[in-house]
Amino acid sequence: MPNRIHVLPDHVANQIAAGEVVQRPASAVKELLENAIDAGSTQIELIIKDGGKTLIQVVDNGSGMSGEDALLCFRRHATSKISGAEDLFRIRTKGFRGEALASIAAIAQVELTTRTADARLATRIRIAGDQVQAREEAVAPEGTSLSVKNLFFNIPARRNFLKSAKVEFRHVLEEFQRVALAHPGVGFRMIHNESEVHHLPASKLRQRIDYLFGNRMHDRLVPITEETQLAAIGGFVVKPEFAKKSRGEQYFFVNDRFIKSPYLHHAVMAAFEGLLKPDTVPGYFLYLDVPPESLDVNIHPTKTEVKFEDEQSLYAILRSAVKHSLGQFSIRPVLDFERDQNLDTPYAFREREVVVPEVSVDRNFNPFSEPQARGGVAPRRNARPAAGWEALYEGLGETPAGEPAQESLEIESGARGGGLLEEGDTLHQDVRGVFQLDRRYIVTRIKSGLLLIDQQRAHQRVLYEQLLENITRQDPVVQTLIFPLVISLNPAERHLLEDLTDALEGMGFRFRLAENGPLEIIGLPALVPEAEAPALVDGLLAGWQQHAGEEGFSQSDRMAKALCKRLAVKPGTALEPSAQLALVNDLFGCRDARMSPFQKPIHMTLPLEELDQKLNTHG
Ligand code: ADP
Ligand code: MG
Repeated sequence: MPNRIHVLPDHVANQIAAGEVVQRPASAVKELLENAIDAGSTQIELIIKDGGKTLIQVVDNGSGMSGEDALLCFRRHATSKISGAEDLFRIRTKGFRGEALASIAAIAQVELTTRTADARLATRIRIAGDQVQAREEAVAPEGTSLSVKNLFFNIPARRNFLKSAKVEFRHVLEEFQRVALAHPGVGFRMIHNESEVHHLPASKLRQRIDYLFGNRMHDRLVPITEETQLAAIGGFVVKPEFAKKSRGEQYFFVNDRFIKSPYLHHAVMAAFEGLLKPDTVPGYFLYLDVPPESLDVNIHPTKTEVKFEDEQSLYAILRSAVKHSLGQFSIRPVLDFERDQNLDTPYAFREREVVVPEVSVDRNFNPFSEPQARGGVAPRRNARPAAGWEALYEGLGETPAGEPAQESLEIESGARGGGLLEEGDTLHQDVRGVFQLDRRYIVTRIKSGLLLIDQQRAHQRVLYEQLLENITRQDPVVQTLIFPLVISLNPAERHLLEDLTDALEGMGFRFRLAENGPLEIIGLPALVPEAEAPALVDGLLAGWQQHAGEEGFSQSDRMAKALCKRLAVKPGTALEPSAQLALVNDLFGCRDARMSPFQKPIHMTLPLEELDQKLNTHG
C-alpha cells in the first residue's frame, strides 16, 4: 500500500486552527485587544463596522514590532511571550500560543502597521488568506494598528453562520467590556459605524464600572478585599436588592484575565444566601490574584476557563470575603420581598374575604379604575365594556329575603368566554359569588358547577391581550408622567433599546433618549403602575439581552409576554373581592381564556355531575 499520510500545508492548517480561535468577530476583537494589552499599551482604540463583520481595527500605543517581527507574527506558533514549556506556569500575559494572528490572517484581509520606539519608520504589511500581498515602510506613530476586514471572506460557509450585525455587535461589546474591566488603568475608546460607543479614560475600577454601566451602579457597589497566601481578592459586588432575574453583570477576573467559573460563582451565591429574592442573581466584579504557578490557563483555546491548584480553598476564601463585606456594610436580609403572605395571616382568618358585609352592587363600579393596595391587580384604564351584560342577568339559586339579588353574567355564544364556558353558562356578578383560595385561586360558581381559576395565569392572559390590543390599535392609552423616570443605561442597553423602540411605543411607552444622556421615560402604558416602571424596564432589557439573536416570535409578542409576566399578580397576593370579580370578568372577555400566554392552563371546572358521582349523592 502506498503511503497516504502527508503534512498539511500551512495555509490549510491555519484555516483549521482559525476555526478554534476565531468563531466570530468578537473572538478576533478579544485577541487583538489582548495583544495590545500585552504590548504594554496605555491607550487602545477599537474601531468596528457592521458588528465587526466588515471591519475590526485595534490601534494601540504599545511597544510595536520590528520589521522582522511584523512578518513573523503571522506565522503559526510565533510568539514573543513564552519560549519553553516551563513558561506555561509563569504566564503573566494574555497570549502565549502564538496562534491568533496566524489564524486571523488565514481567514481575513489583514493590514498591520507597526513601529517601535527606536525605529524611524513603521512597517506596513498586507496579508490575506495567508498570502503576504505587500510589505512597505510607512510613517506612523509608535505602536501598532491592526485591521481585519471581511472576516471569513474566503470561507463562505462560515461567513453565513455569522448573525446580524446587531447581534455580533453585542458580542463584541461584551468582549470589549471584559477587557476594559480587567484593565481600568488603560484608556479605551470604542467606535462602531463611525459613532463613539465608549470613551473610557484610565481610572480606578469603580469609575470604570460607572463609565461602562452607567452611574446608577455607583451607589450599588459593595467593595470586597481580602489578602491570603493563596489569593488576593478585590473588586465589588452589587447590593442584593439590585440582583436581577437574569445573568448579566457577573465578572470574574483571575490575574487580569476574564474567566468563567461556575464553581466560584456558586461561592458568591453562597455568600448571598438569605439576601436575595428568589431566582435572582447578584452582579459582581471580582478580581482574584493568584501566583501564576498555581493556575493552569492552558485549557481551552478561547481561554475563559482556567484550572486552579486549590479550588476548594479558593471557594471558601471567596465566600467568606463576600459574606464579610456584605455584613460589614450591614446589608440585611430582604425578607419582605415576595414572601408568602399566607404567613402574615392566622390560618383561621385566611379566607375571611369570603364573608363580606352586605353590599349593594354598583354596576358601573370598576375596581380597576382606582389604585389598589400594593400587590393588588394593576390599575387599568382601557377596560373593555362588559358587553351589555345587564341584559343577561339570570338569578342563580334562591335569593334570601331582604338580600339584593345576586347578579350573574350569561355567556354569549361564541364571542365571549374565551372558548371555555358553554352557552348559557353564567358567571357571578356579585362579590359574594367569588372567593379566593389559598391566595392562588379564585373560585366561582357557574351554572354547571364550580370554576377554579389560577389568579396569576388569568391575570397574565388579561394583560397580554390588552398589551397586544394596544399595539394593534396603534393608538395605545398612555399615561403621561409629570416627572419623567430617569434610568441610566449602559451602551449595550442603549443599542437594545433602539431596537425595541417600535415595540415599546406600540404598547404605550413614551421615552426620550438623548445622545449621551440617560433614558427618560415620559409615558407608560395605562396598565403599568408608575412605581413598577424602572424595575420593569431594567428587567425587560436584561431579559432581552439574554435572548439576543433568537429568531421566531415577533418583537411585540415577546415584549407583551415579558411585560405580562412581570406585571401579573403573583400567587400569595390577597385580592379584594371586587378585584377577584373583575379579574374573572376580564378573563372571560379574553379571546382565549383557556391558556396563559405561556401555554399553561388557566382554570378548571368541577361539574356538578362529577361532584354527585364523587359523593355518590344519588346512590
Ligand atoms: P500570542 O499573543 O499568543 O503571542 P499572537 O498571534 O496573538 O500570539 O501574536 C503573535 C506575536 O505578535 C505576539 O507574541 C507579539 O510579540 C506580537 N504582537 C501581536 N500584536 C502586537 C501588538 N499589538 N503590539 C506589539 N506586538 C504584537
Ligand atoms: Mg495574542
